Amino acid sequence: MEGSFDEECDYLFKAVLIGDSAVGKSNLLSRFARDEFLLDSKPTIGVDFAYRNIKVADKLIKAQIWDTAGQERFRAVTSSYYRGALGALLVYDITRKTTFENMKKWLHELRKFGDSNMVVVLAGNKSDLGHSREVDVEEGRSFAKLEGLCFLETSARENLNVEEAFLQMITKIYEVTSQKNL
Ligand code: GDP
Repeated sequence: MEGSFDEECDYLFKAVLIGDSAVGKSNLLSRFARDEFLLDSKPTIGVDFAYRNIKVADKLIKAQIWDTAGQERFRAVTSSYYRGALGALLVYDITRKTTFENMKKWLHELRKFGDSNMVVVLAGNKSDLGHSREVDVEEGRSFAKLEGLCFLETSARENLNVEEAFLQMITKIYEVTSQKNL
C-alpha cells in the first residue's frame, strides 16, 4: 500500500508491457499490482504505470511496470517508452492468431529501441478461453525457445500464472543486474 511505497529499496527496475490492443495488458498489470499498487495516470505522455515492491534474495526491489495505455493503437509507442527498461512482458491473446503473429514485430521493435540485455517473458494470455484457442501452447513455447524468451500462458481473468509471469521477469532482471554489478 502507500506505506510500502516510501520504503527504502535496494533496486528500482523498470519493465514494460508490450503487445497488440486488447490482448489483456492492462488487466494483467492490475491483477499483478492489485492491493499493493499505485496506478499513476500520465495522460500527457499517454502511459500508465504501476509500482510493486517485491523481495528477491533478501533484496527489496521496486518494480515499476509501464503500460501502453492504448497508445499501441496509434503506433505511438516510441523509444522513450523503452528507455531504461530492463524487462518486457510480451503479451498475445491465445484466441487471436494475429496477435501472436505480431509478436515478431514487437520483438523487433523491442530489440531496436530497448537495452540488448533486456529480459523478455512471452505471455499467451486468456488461457481461460481454451475453447476459442487459435494458438497452441506448443507454438508459443517453440517461438519463445527460438527467440530465447521465457514463456507462460496466463489468464488475467482467472488470475492464472500472472504473479508467476511478473515474478519470473523480475527475478531474472535481478539475476542479470546483480551479475553485472559483481
Ligand atoms: P489491453 O488493451 O492489452 O490493455 O487489454 P485489456 O486489459 O484492456 O483487455 C482487453 C479485453 O480483454 C477486455 O475486455 C478484458 O476484459 C479482456 N481480457 C483481458 N484479459 C483476459 C483474460 O485473461 N481472459 C479473458 N477471458 N478476457 C480477458
